[in-house]
Amino acid sequence: MKLSPSIQGLIDGLRHLPGVGPKSAQRMTLHLLERDREGAQEIAEAIETALAKVRNCERCRNFTELAICEICSDPKRDASTLCVVEAPADVMAIEQSGSFRGHYYVLMGHLSPIDGIGPDQLKIRELLARLDDEGITEIILCTNPNTEGDVTAMYLARLLKPLGLRVTRIAS
Ligand code: ZN
Repeated sequence: MKLSPSIQGLIDGLRHLPGVGPKSAQRMTLHLLERDREGAQEIAEAIETALAKVRNCERCRNFTELAICEICSDPKRDASTLCVVEAPADVMAIEQSGSFRGHYYVLMGHLSPIDGIGPDQLKIRELLARLDDEGITEIILCTNPNTEGDVTAMYLARLLKPLGLRVTRIAS
C-alpha cells in the first residue's frame, strides 16, 4: 500500500529518532494523527523552538540558550577544576549526581580517525586556550569507559600533563 506523502513524510521523520524502526515510526504516526493531534502540534513547536534557540556555550560547548551557559557563569562554582566529558548527556548525569562543583568542557564526541574526527573537530585548541585564561589547575578526564573514550583520555592526558596540571581519569 502506498501511503499519502504527508503520512510517509512523518514516518520518515520519526525514524531519525534513535531506536525507532519503521514499525514504531508507523505506530507513532498513526497514534499522533488519530488520537493526539494536540500533542503532535506541541512536539512540532518544541522541536522548532529548540532548533532555533539551543546552541553551544562559547566556553564549555554544552547546550544552552545563552552565549555563556549557567554553569560557566555561576560564581559559586570552582573554576580551578575542569571536567572533560564527551556529551551534554554526561554533564546532565554528573550534575544530577550533585557530586561535582567545578566547570566542564564538552568535546561533543571522541577521537575517531576512521570517522574523520580528530583534535580539530573536538575543538581541543579551544580547550587549551581556556587553561591559560581561567587559572585551571586540575583536569578530570571523564570520557566514556570504552576504547574510544580511553583513547581520547590518553591523548588529552599526554597533552595536558606537561603543562603542569593535575590530570585524573574517571570513567563516566
Ligand atoms: Zn558553559
